[in-house]
Order: sequence, then structure tokens, then C-alpha cells
Amino acid sequence: MPTRVLILGAGFGGLELATRLSSELAGTVEVTLIDRSDSFIFGFSKLDVMFGRRTMDAVRLPYRSIAKPSVEFRQETILSIDPERKRVVTEAGTHEADILVVALGADLAPGATPGLLEAGHEYYSHEGAVAARDVIAAFQGGAIVIGVMGGFFKCPPAPYETALMLHDDLTRRGLRGATSITLVTPMPKPIPISDEVSDAIVATLDERGIHSSHATWTERLDPAAKVAHLRDGRALPFDLFLAVPVHVAPPVVVESGLTEDDGWIAVDKATLATKWPDVYAVGDVASAPVPRAGVVAEGEASTVADVLLHRLGGGPAPAPFPGQILCYMEMGDDTIGRVNANFLSGPAPVALYSPPSLAGAEEKRQFAATRRARWFGLETG
Ligand SMILES: Cc1cc2nc3c(=O)[nH]c(=O)nc-3n(C[C@H](O)[C@H](O)[C@H](O)COP(=O)(O)OP(=O)(O)OC[C@H]3O[C@@H](n4cnc5c(N)ncnc54)[C@H](O)[C@@H]3O)c2cc1C
Repeated sequence: MPTRVLILGAGFGGLELATRLSSELAGTVEVTLIDRSDSFIFGFSKLDVMFGRRTMDAVRLPYRSIAKPSVEFRQETILSIDPERKRVVTEAGTHEADILVVALGADLAPGATPGLLEAGHEYYSHEGAVAARDVIAAFQGGAIVIGVMGGFFKCPPAPYETALMLHDDLTRRGLRGATSITLVTPMPKPIPISDEVSDAIVATLDERGIHSSHATWTERLDPAAKVAHLRDGRALPFDLFLAVPVHVAPPVVVESGLTEDDGWIAVDKATLATKWPDVYAVGDVASAPVPRAGVVAEGEASTVADVLLHRLGGGPAPAPFPGQILCYMEMGDDTIGRVNANFLSGPAPVALYSPPSLAGAEEKRQFAATRRARWFGLETG
């Protein structure tokens, strides 16, 4: 009998794991991949949508394209997870597993910041990115604040990318002179493990007249006065507030008792195993000591694939999750910079920076194209 592997969530982590198990353990495993959505969207595609480069329909990758040996995709909403029994209930029925992998990502809680729902625009969800696109297109000048509302959020470079893409967009439309852009973030610096990379990013913001406030955050918005009240006591007036909202584990994960006091699923950082036998967690929902990003979720999933190959297929002993990250960062003028970071394999985390270039932009396109081909069998898009 094949081993039943149940993967919850078909994002970066779930897709990578299903792909590797299919190509390297088909027949030995029977994989069920569950997601409530009908399609996957790269996180960075939301920025493309927000700045009118592409439509939401153009960036959707439909799960119905997945045709992989030993993998079945099911579009269902997960209602409960029993990690002891490895049993999962959805609106369509109950799934039993021999091995359970939780890859359900992070949810957004814009309501956690008073006044944000009334006066600001989160742009981290699909719907939020579409709504922000319309608001930005209609904007005619004034004060823009980009606010990161919590210390934990996915893709730490994304708020900087937002500021730089906003600068380009407003410059093109002749509105930059009439607009101030301020970024407020609890991060002590853009990439805390590297002064060199952080200084390069801050210098790029400074050159473009973008203000940045680090190590503070917006505690509440006053919708009537259109003022953001910061943790450090300052009050920032705004005409447009773009928010990276507070992140939380999906409610079904919390309600199923999988999370610890920090709100996330604790994992062994080498293997991504949870404290329950044969239950793993990868990606944004897991609290490995690395930033939350798609490339991280993918790397963690790959480590779980190595672990399962060793256990079920007689593969070599798995190397510990290396915590290596290659991050592409939009730096304006259609160029992309690269941050290469290593969090777990050396004595201390390190990061290297490759300055923005058009070649970097091409490399990012290739990154997306290889995932479209490997995960979905789609050659174009
Ligand atoms: C604006 C923006 C830009 C970004 N840019 C980058 C970038 O350039 N590079 C990078 O590496 N990362 C980037 N990211 C971050 C990246 O998108 C996430 O870190 C990544 O998607 C996490 O992968 P995951 O597999 O953990 O979760 P996800 O990809 O979020 O997948 C989780 C899945 O679980 C499903 N799910 C949740 N709850 C349920 C339920 N109850 N029932 C069924 N299904 C459920 C969801 O539908 C989702 O498909 C960006 C994110 C944003 C918002």
C-alpha cells in the first residue's frame, strides 16, 4: 500500500513538496494536496497587479493544470486538523493520512489595527491588491504612508519594493512632485542581518526622496482626521495609507491546537518536523528561525521531501534545512536587485547584495517561469 501523504495548502510550500514527491516517490506515496482556492498567485504578482502591470486573471495559475503521477488536487476548505490521528475534516469529508504536512501560510488581520479597515488599504491579499490598484490609479497627489503593522510579515523587502514602485508610478504620471512617500516599519533596518544591504536599500530610498522610519509602527489610524498615530508618539497625516497588516496563523491551525504561544507552529529547524509524529509544517505557518518568504517555504518543503525520500525511498540521509534565501527585489526603473542570505548553515546569518539591473529582472522572470513549468506544467504566462 502506498504511504498516504496529505499536504494542507497549495502555496509555495505545498506545490514544491507535491512536485518533488511525485517526481521522486510516485507509486510509493499517494499525495492528496488540498487548497480552498482554485488557483495559485505568486506573492510578487500582487505588486504587478497593484501597479497595473498585469491583471489578476493574467497572474492566476489554475490548480486544474496540475497533472502529476500520484498527486490528487482537491479544492476544499479545511475545517479541522487532528495532529494526533493525522485526520483532516473539510466541507467535503474526512481525510486520513500516514504523513501530514501543514503548509497553510499566514492569514491577514487588518482589523487588529484600530482604524485601518476604515481609513487604510491593505495590499497583501488578492482583493486588497486589486482595490489598492484602483485607489493608486485615482490618486492625484498628497501624502502617502506605507505602514507595516506588525513585526512578523511575509517578504521583508516588499514594503521597500512598494515605495520604489510607487515612486516610479507617480513620476510617470507627473505627480511625484506633489506627493510625499513615507515608509514606517518596525524592522530596525531593511535587512537586519546585513548593514551593507540595508545601507544600499536606504540609500536608494534617499536618492528618490522617500522617507523611512524604522523601529516604530502605526498603532492606530484616525479615520476622521486621516492621521496615523505611531508607537513613538508621532502623528503622521496621510491622504493614502497603504498597509502590510498584522499576520496571524490561519484560524483552523490555531483552533486545532497546532500553534504555540508565539502564534505559529513550532518545528525542528533541521527537518521541519512538529512535536507530533509524522506531522510536518513548512512555510509562513511554521516558526523556523528564518524570514517568511516563498523561497523559504519552497526550501523547507524541499527539505521535507528529502526527509521523506530517506524514510520511504531509501534515499541518502537528509541534510538539515540550510536556511538559504535568494530574494529578488524590485528597485524601480524596472530593475531588480538580489539579496542572497544564509541563515542557518554558517556560524552567523549573512547576506550578500547584487545591485539592481535589467539582468536581475530577467532572472526573476526565469524564476517564475521555472515554477510555472515544474508545478503546473505551464510553459508560458
Ligand atoms: C506583496 C507580496 C510580495 C511578495 N514577494 C515575494 C518575493 O518576491 N519572493 C518570495 O519568496 N516571497 C514573496 N512573498 C511572500 C510569499 O508569497 C509567501 O511567503 C509564500 O506564499 C508562503 O508560502 P506558503 O506555502 O507558506 O503559504 P501560501 O503560499 O500563502 O499558501 C498557503 C495556502 O493555504 C491555503 N489555505 C489557507 N487556509 C486554508 C483552509 N482553511 N483550507 C484550505 N486551504 C487553505 C491558501 O489558499 C493558500 O493557497 C510576497 C508576498 C506578498 C504579499
